Amino acid sequence: MENIETDYLVVGAGATGMIFVDEMLTHSDARFVIVDRRFRGGGHWNEAYPFVRLHQPSAFYGAGSRELGSRRVETGGPNSGLYQQAGGAEITAYFEQLMQERFLPSGRVRFLPLHDYRGDWNGQHRAVSLATGEVRDIRVNRKVVDTTFYRISTPVSHTRPYESAPGVTVITPGELPQSLAPGRHYVVVGGGKTSMDVVIWLLEQGVGAGNLRWIVPRDSWLLNRETLQPGGAGTLRMVEGLANGLEAAVSARSLDEIYERLERSGDMLRLDPKVRPGMFHQATISRGELTLLRQVKNVIRGRRVRRIDADRIVFEDGILQAPANALYVDCTARAISFRPTVPVFDGPRITLQFVRDGRISFSAAATGFVEATMDDEDRKNRLCAPIPYEEHLVTWPRAVLAELRNGEAWASDPAMRAWARGHRLAGFTTADASSRDAGEKLNALRRRIAALRPQAVANLEALIAAHENGRSRLAADESQTTLALAANG
Ligand SMILES: Cc1cc2nc3c(=O)[nH]c(=O)nc-3n(C[C@H](O)[C@H](O)[C@H](O)COP(=O)(O)OP(=O)(O)OC[C@H]3O[C@@H](n4cnc5c(N)ncnc54)[C@H](O)[C@@H]3O)c2cc1C
Repeated sequence: MENIETDYLVVGAGATGMIFVDEMLTHSDARFVIVDRRFRGGGHWNEAYPFVRLHQPSAFYGAGSRELGSRRVETGGPNSGLYQQAGGAEITAYFEQLMQERFLPSGRVRFLPLHDYRGDWNGQHRAVSLATGEVRDIRVNRKVVDTTFYRISTPVSHTRPYESAPGVTVITPGELPQSLAPGRHYVVVGGGKTSMDVVIWLLEQGVGAGNLRWIVPRDSWLLNRETLQPGGAGTLRMVEGLANGLEAAVSARSLDEIYERLERSGDMLRLDPKVRPGMFHQATISRGELTLLRQVKNVIRGRRVRRIDADRIVFEDGILQAPANALYVDCTARAISFRPTVPVFDGPRITLQFVRDGRISFSAAATGFVEATMDDEDRKNRLCAPIPYEEHLVTWPRAVLAELRNGEAWASDPAMRAWARGHRLAGFTTADASSRDAGEKLNALRRRIAALRPQAVANLEALIAAHENGRSRLAADESQTTLALAANG
């Protein structure tokens, strides 16, 4: 048994843990122990399928101290004209370099890979080697940092929610490149971003859309990637996106209407214009990718797979015949599990969460900066109020309200304002937008946002309240029904 002492114990060497430590290394002289079950840093990206890419440009992903990617603009393919998005191998290499070239040589970070955290998150901290069983007790002078809040599951780590008969081939997206064969039929199970990556990749390899069947249990609204680009023009478009959102919020009479308005302004997209999506999960897509996805006509919507037999798919509500040699690609892992938020700063524990809408890297870096430079816990929690997400249309209004509140808290805190201005992860490159023309456009957008804001906030709050009332009415109806059923034996 070894006894270790440290200032901060960070559980998880995924992107968020490493980005947090990176920012704290810059702004403090603290020492860190990082523990992870995996054999190296980078978290779930280590087991990503080979054709995975970031959803957003590399330009504002990763740690504050070093760029990811080269700011290349794609010149071909469905993302032509958009900034490069790093692939899984590039991302894991990036975090490995961060560990080997910055963290370990600093002499302030000790990394325990292949170690499981087995403490109580309070005063007892222990890591156990998965290779040798050796136990290490860790005395923490300052805080323990929990990076596992979102419990990310990947196609490799999750348990499939359906069964398959012997002889049926169900693979993960990672096994797909070795499994292609001429004339083969593919059934893609799942409607999230991974399934879209798989369908796009298959079409790009030349697989005919007619050989594809796609099971989409729920449709979701998707962010148009054009609205998330770096540089001066990208910054203007991002700010315009917020203005469009507030404009949509001012007069929308329902959650659906907000999204439909955002679709008209080019901020949101959906797979099929005839299908009304029931959720928003922060997934991002380009118009070029959407054109590819729409080539697939054999889409089965609104049904969940229970079992796959040799020549048929059994759903909760029926059966569909399927080609006997079909290859099933399981894309049902949920990636992030959205749960009720908890305070980021809570005594001796920090729980990393999104504190700026949709920007996990910037959120982790901001939390590191706040921890390194501030003492007052109320101030810290005001600056880092977690953004609530759930898999429902209400997620966008909630996130926008929280984003506006945090943005305001940052703007009125001089230290935070100075840190965020020009930070590479902020996404807003005001320097590039400083030409006279761009500056005028930016100011006009800011005036538009300021004018729309009060009415938009009021209407969003009303729509959220109506949603909550509907939900509690539904819950009350359900419990009445349960009571009635129980009373009737
Ligand atoms: C396909 C895909 C594309 C994505 N694209 C983007 C994007 O473009 N932009 C974006 O911002 N986000 C994107 N994301 C979200 C992405 O998950 C985050 O960017 C980020 O990688 C999450 O990092 P994390 O540190 O929160 O989690 P993880 O990567 O899951 O890291 C947590 C780590 O904690 C470790 N751990 C957990 N419990 C213990 C324990 N008890 N003991 C020891 N170690 C433990 C795990 O082994 C793991 O390595 C994408 C996600 C997916 C799946």
